Amino acid sequence: MIQDKNQQRTSLSELGEFKLIEHLTKNFKIKHKSTVKGIGDDAAVLEFESKRIVMTTDLLVEGVHFDLSYVPLKHLGYKSVVVNLSDVYAMNAEATQITVSIAVSNRFPLEALEELYSGIQTAAKIYNVDVVGGDTTSSNSGLLISITAIGTLNKDEVIYRDGAKPNDLLVVSGDLGGAYMGLQILEREKEVYKVNPNNQPDLDNYTYIIERQLKPEARKDIIKLLKDLEVKPTSMIDISDGLSSEILHLCTQSNVGCDLYENKIPLDPQVISTCEEFNIDSTTIALNGGEDYELLMTISQEDFPKIKANPNLTVIGFITEKSAGKHLVTRAETKIALQAQGWKNFNE
Ligand code: ADP
Ligand code: MG
Repeated sequence: MIQDKNQQRTSLSELGEFKLIEHLTKNFKIKHKSTVKGIGDDAAVLEFESKRIVMTTDLLVEGVHFDLSYVPLKHLGYKSVVVNLSDVYAMNAEATQITVSIAVSNRFPLEALEELYSGIQTAAKIYNVDVVGGDTTSSNSGLLISITAIGTLNKDEVIYRDGAKPNDLLVVSGDLGGAYMGLQILEREKEVYKVNPNNQPDLDNYTYIIERQLKPEARKDIIKLLKDLEVKPTSMIDISDGLSSEILHLCTQSNVGCDLYENKIPLDPQVISTCEEFNIDSTTIALNGGEDYELLMTISQEDFPKIKANPNLTVIGFITEKSAGKHLVTRAETKIALQAQGWKNFNE
């Protein structure tokens, strides 16, 4: 990491922009036949024949989206790619190409960027996407990373947010709240470290949730699973801001209401135990935590037999008429209105 005084530090100004780009991108290999020309010309050239193309961009800013005091640059590179691909999968597409743009200050040595790019390269390999370009520029203070992803699918395969129908089942992949609780642990350890740098944290009880925060995965596997099961969701969205706000997006855009069942929300045991330790309600965390990068979808009732035995997919509620409203049905069986709290402004 950049704080490590023993490591070699090659200044970026020593290298120059062109050498830097060449150095960082020399190991990227092209795997898709849709990539006609990747890095090296004024623009990439792609060829998709009769396919539909999806395209999405994310911008990550140091101090706003990540804190380099506890996020290793390699993980940051990996996560920057993953959060972007998650949006491609949420359209039911296969991700094929990305571009990577960075603005970086002189406080970062070349070795730090090598770390960042090794994470980017690992993600590109695991998710099978070609890095076909980007831009490199300087920044006066922090690090900025912007990734654009391109994906492809057939016209009739696209899944929008607006297709949910009354009686459809509300289904979520994986489990929720882990990334937020992982962040709480990392923030706590950062404070402990400030007071006593010799304190060696014991993080054994938190490995899953810390990994959910530092090294999330996009659910490419769920897109394949749904194809294998021959289930086409009626609507889909990825969970970046918390379950509650994503459900509200689906319902608003589809013009429907919903009943979400508190006791059905999937939680990992580590999320439950860490919430108990912090004395916060695990449902609040699952609803508002964010950064889980799971997929939320609605499926028609007829498809229920195809998914019901699958441990990766959980039915958490159903869609109602718009006039019925959007509700959380609590464990005590009371109905309360779903609200998009957003994870930054709820009280602990
Ligand atoms: P231009 O001046 O035309 O924008 P650049 O010198 O910035 O060209 O880029 C040269 C090539 O390197 C282009 O193919 C560009 O997409 C690619 N590239 C530039 N920066 C990055 C980066 N940070 N990561 C990946 N590819 C990059
Ligand atoms: Mg450029």
